Parts: sequence; C-alpha cells; structure tokens
Amino acid sequence: MSQTRRPIVIGNWKMNGLKASGAELAAMMGSAKDAPSCDVMVCPPAILIAPMAQAAEGSAVAIGGQDCHANPSGAHTGDISAEMLADAGASAVIVGHSERRADHGESDAEVRAKAEAAHRAGLMAIVCVGETEHQRDSGDAEAVVGAQIEGSLPANVTADNTIIAYEPVWAIGTGRTPTLEEIAAMHGFIRRAVADLKGDVAGNVRLLYGGSVKPGNAAEILKVADVDGALVGGASLKAQDFSGIYSVFD
Ligand code: PEP
Repeated sequence: MSQTRRPIVIGNWKMNGLKASGAELAAMMGSAKDAPSCDVMVCPPAILIAPMAQAAEGSAVAIGGQDCHANPSGAHTGDISAEMLADAGASAVIVGHSERRADHGESDAEVRAKAEAAHRAGLMAIVCVGETEHQRDSGDAEAVVGAQIEGSLPANVTADNTIIAYEPVWAIGTGRTPTLEEIAAMHGFIRRAVADLKGDVAGNVRLLYGGSVKPGNAAEILKVADVDGALVGGASLKAQDFSGIYSVFD
C-alpha cells in the first residue's frame, strides 16, 4: 500500500460562534499560511458557513459542515442537505459525531446515508466513530468501533472522499485522553478493519484522533503511528489554541 497521507487538523466549533467569530477565523487564516505541511479546516455552525467560506476563499483554511441530512431536499424542517452545504462553500461535512449519535439517536445506517449524501454533493465525509467509557471498560472498544466502521462507511470510500475520525466518547470535552499506546492500537485496528472491508484504499485514508486534543498534547498524539491528524473541539475555538495544534506540523 502506498502511504501518501497529508495530515489534516479539523476544528469542530459545535454550537459555538457568532458573526464576530470571523475574527478568530481571520487569525487562523493568518497563521495557517505558515503551516503548509498540513491541511487545516474549520467546521463552524451551519449559519456561519457561507460568510466564512467566502472569507476563507483562497486561504489555507477550508470550511466544513457539522452534519447533513441524507436527502438532497424535501420536507425536513430545520435540516440542511449536503448540497446546501456545498452551495454555501463547504468542502466537507462531519457525519456520525458522537453528540449526533447520542443526542439524535443516529444509527450507523443513518450515518452511512449521510456519508453517501456528502459524496453525492461532492463533499469529503468525515466519519466519526468511538466507544463509550463503559464499552472500553468492558473490553468491547474494538468490537464497537469495528461495527461502526462496517456500518457507517459507504461502499465507495476513497482517500479523496472520506476521512475517519476516532473519537472515544469519554475523551470528548473531558480533558482525558487515551494513552498513546491505546491510540496507536485503535488506529492500527481501524486501518486493518478498513483494509478488510475496502482493500488497499485503507493505506491512503486519513485517520484522525479526536478527544481533548490541545496545544500541550498535540505534538505527542500527532506523532503516533496511523494518526494522520486531529479532530478538535474546544481547542479549535480560539486561533491561538488551534494554531498551536496545526503548527505541530511546521
Ligand atoms: C469533538 O467534539 O469532536 C472533540 C474532539 O471535542 P474536544 O476536542 O473538545 O474533546
């Protein structure tokens, strides 16, 4: 398998940010131009995608969505389609984030349909998987993540249309992280699982770690084998913190 995986650091702003957050984006654009050795993306709330994509055009910062509906249009009040995200200037969308899986009861099949919708609209799908603390403590982490991989990935996965983010639920927003050995073991497991399902494409698909990544732990986490970048929540809201993560690749 060839291994030409360019690192990427993606910020998930979740339900945070107002028009004034354009100033943080501008600061990120300023520092990202000095970090050409990795891709940088910000996923703001949907309502900010259009102005932020316009502001970031031509810069080293790409803009993504946090979720999409599986259908291109229709009677789905409050939902946003992948086509709408693309139309607003997004180049990617997160699907299957654990907060969506927990708060909205999204199943693997729904996550897969959303990833297929992303591909249909020409967006990169960032597919999230990860076990709960109880599942890890019960020794079921690999079984849970393996089933999510099998159920959530569309048939036509390529390195150009899909990124996988491993985000242990118990590490999200808690300040706790798995050990580097645990991260390496799970990323190796995921790459083997993708290889079993999809063949050689597994060697080129980027696998991100997510869960309490911050400037202080980014360097060691981003060096772990099979970690091709990070999906960052809290520490992506402020340019100073976020740039402290992607500048690890300088
Ligand atoms: C996330 O929600 O995707 C995430 C990784 O959050 P945090 O970095 O705040 O743990």
